Amino acid sequence: MTEQDFRDLFIAPDCSLHEALARLNRTARGLLLVLAADGKLLRTLTDGDMRRAALAHLPDATRVSELPQRPPLTVADDEPLSTAVALLDRHEIDHLPVIDAAGRPVDIVLRRELTQRIWLSSPHLGEDETAFVAEAFRTNWIAPLGPHVDAFERELADHVGVGHAAALSSGTAAIHLGLLLLGVQPGDTVFCSCLTFVASCNPIQYCGARPVFIDAEPGSWNMSPLALARAFAWAEREGRLPRCVIVVNLYGQSADMDALLPLCERYGVPVLEDAAESLGASYKGRASGSFGRVGVYSFNGNKIITTSGGGMLVADDEALIARARKLATQAREPAPHYEHVETGFNYRMSNVLAGIGRGQLRVLPQRVQQRREVFETYRAALADVPGIHWMPQPPGMHSTRWLTCLTLAGEDAGARRDQVLRSLERHSIEARPVWKPMHLQPLYRGAPWFPHAEGTDLAAQLFATGICLPSGSNLEPGQITRVIAHLRRALARAEP
Ligand SMILES: *Cc1c(COP(=O)(O)O)cnc(C)c1O
Repeated sequence: MTEQDFRDLFIAPDCSLHEALARLNRTARGLLLVLAADGKLLRTLTDGDMRRAALAHLPDATRVSELPQRPPLTVADDEPLSTAVALLDRHEIDHLPVIDAAGRPVDIVLRRELTQRIWLSSPHLGEDETAFVAEAFRTNWIAPLGPHVDAFERELADHVGVGHAAALSSGTAAIHLGLLLLGVQPGDTVFCSCLTFVASCNPIQYCGARPVFIDAEPGSWNMSPLALARAFAWAEREGRLPRCVIVVNLYGQSADMDALLPLCERYGVPVLEDAAESLGASYKGRASGSFGRVGVYSFNGNKIITTSGGGMLVADDEALIARARKLATQAREPAPHYEHVETGFNYRMSNVLAGIGRGQLRVLPQRVQQRREVFETYRAALADVPGIHWMPQPPGMHSTRWLTCLTLAGEDAGARRDQVLRSLERHSIEARPVWKPMHLQPLYRGAPWFPHAEGTDLAAQLFATGICLPSGSNLEPGQITRVIAHLRRALARAEP
């Protein structure tokens, strides 16, 4: 609903029933909002009210104010959607005006939208997945191994230009194994981007090691080379260099590898590249995920391509990947019986899911293009809205725009961001804040953290003011239009 559509629902109390009926007919929402001169909501006027007036033989010229008074059911602007839904259900109605502190209508909750939820990032299957899965069934390869697993590994490694790949049960499992391959042991420290999903760093704890968090930088929102340099200088002074550095590529965009990798090389510390969110992106022409000693992708349901759940560990070093496959299958030694000398895991991907992955990989370039188009649609449609900044894409970086992200600028940006998220939720649009940084999580309280610039916390700022919009490659044009219309209204109301 655009601002104009919304305002078209406003009528004055001295309006005649005839005029009201014509307006109801034209706006076709099933209700009008009757406003006093000061803009306060006096009542709603529904199709039902008109029917009752007709049955009572009220003349057409009757004024709306002469109808039996009915105080309006409303919900306050700062109430959660659940309150509105409870009211809709209790009173068996289909729409509920939202009013501000002064009693003026600012929005409307529509039951119809509640059943047409727009998701942040939903799975988008191509045409080949079912055939691959059917083949797994037909050949009875319903196992955590099999021809689809081998083929998916080879195809993905080729796609990103890395020597070898191991298909695993999740991206988290891939990070865990990656850390073990790089020699992370109990008592070690591991540097990690602070602005990320918790799965980037939880595996540090699985290894009994401790994370040290590195701030983001404004250019790419990824690991700040300045913060990384501070952390290395500190670690050197302490005489405890980290065992590895986890560089995360956020929201479909690579970190600034040309600035980060030489620093890690200078200290002789290997990089694990968490490319769970950046499959399909590139940095200076090279595939994101191919820069670290090991790289990790995820095929969770919300990622750019999915196997419903799964991950991939990639590396040029064949021996490393062979070791990953062994650790992922209970670390079984080559013997006819079950022989074990070290602790392994059950981390392999199933052959059925690898079949889905093969189909998805074929449409990856299309999915990248589609997500980038979603981003461009938002950007073009909101170009005239002041005070919003899109996640930047520095020269040389080709982002997939896995999620379209923006930050609000100006005073009270944090409070306004919350208000915008609440408004979108009322229209059943799934938008989210940017990741809450790891050094602000209770789970990681007390972990060392190094800023991009002294006295500031860039990751915390991005978290406080950032919004991720619905970005799926299967969003329909009408859905994007709906998000844009509601977002425009929410942003206009949230102007500083
Ligand atoms: C999704 C994600 C992961 C974890 O992948 P799963 O397959 O869900 O285990 C790791 N890191 C980042 C940055 C992610 O977004």
